[in-house]
Amino acid sequence: MSNVKLDKYAVFGSPIKHSKSPVIHQLFAGQTGQDLSYDAIEVTAEDFIKSVDTFFAEGGKGLNCTVPLKELAWQYADNKSQRAEISKAVNTLILQEDGSIFGENTDGIGLLRDLVINHAINLEGKRILVLGAGGASRGILGPLLEQLPSCIFIANRTISKALDLAHEFSEKGAISGCGYTDLDDKKFDLILNATSASLSDQLPPLPEALLEKNGVCYDLAYGNKPTAFVRWGLEHKAAQSLDGLGMLVEQAAEAFYLWRGVRPDTRLVIEQIKIAVD
Ligand code: NDP
Repeated sequence: MSNVKLDKYAVFGSPIKHSKSPVIHQLFAGQTGQDLSYDAIEVTAEDFIKSVDTFFAEGGKGLNCTVPLKELAWQYADNKSQRAEISKAVNTLILQEDGSIFGENTDGIGLLRDLVINHAINLEGKRILVLGAGGASRGILGPLLEQLPSCIFIANRTISKALDLAHEFSEKGAISGCGYTDLDDKKFDLILNATSASLSDQLPPLPEALLEKNGVCYDLAYGNKPTAFVRWGLEHKAAQSLDGLGMLVEQAAEAFYLWRGVRPDTRLVIEQIKIAVD
């Protein structure tokens, strides 16, 4: 049996050492009876094209790309889904039968599955605030707008980036960009933290009365302990204050489905990963 060649998948990124993706995909594979290998490989932006070319030339079937490679992956893909096209970022590359490479962005669908299915949060008619205007925000705005919220505000430290992003998505719904000081007189039902501040246990400067009664806080980041933003949500009496572990597993499940045509049971894996994180 040891001679059997496993279908090869990987995640490229930098830094990548602490990635949970190999564990998640091995759990999916075990659960669905799929034989595959999945490795985390350190790849910088400079080495990206050469590394992806080599990976597929050596029989790779699919790749995930994370920080700082999602925009490069978007450029690399021969064809893209509409979702990936709009977000200008790709986190999943798929080898097609004709040898071409298809690019998808599963971050937005991963976030929605975690919010709407796992946590029963309805977004229709809700006021949503997205903190941050980087790659993650770009990936989630389209799918969020499809849920028909009453409005989305994007607040960012560099205000011009929030304004530009809001402008790009303005045909898809009511969306505005602003800086943090513009939030003083506003309230939201759902606040999503898509800044990388949590990674250094920091918080963007948020006004005290930002969250509606029964509002929900969601940090796209996750860690062994509650992130600074999850703690902020708890301190401000959020009905739920969640981290991005569920999104991580859900976006991985969507990639797994695109590669293998089988949908794993994510709830089970979220629980297993939580135990591994604790
Ligand atoms: P980017 O580097 O593209 O963007 C970072 C954003 O954070 C920018 O808007 C930046 O503002 C802002 N920012 C950074 N530090 C601070 C700070 N101290 N105060 C206020 N704002 C700050 O990162 P990504 O968009 O790729 O990732 C953002 C987060 O989302 C990360 O924590 C990442 O781990 C998480 N993520 C989670 C996923 C999941 O599956 N759970 C999937 C994808 C991302 P400025 O423009 O002014 O520099």
